[in-house]
Amino acid sequence: MKREALCCFCGRTVPAEAEGLTVLEHKICSFCERQLVKTSVEEDLYLVFKEKVKKIWFR
Ligand SMILES: [Zn+2]
Repeated sequence: MKREALCCFCGRTVPAEAEGLTVLEHKICSFCERQLVKTSVEEDLYLVFKEKVKKIWFR
């Protein structure tokens, strides 16, 4: 059976076994993973991502 997960950033459906970050069962698709890495220098976007990650971690 194929399991699917939702990317917690963009809501895209990703195969559960696909490459990508998983934060507490929340999948982050490879696209958003790249965005995360890329935005680490662009503070505004990085902060947005950080807030989202925070929400996941402290839920
Ligand atoms: Zn995504």
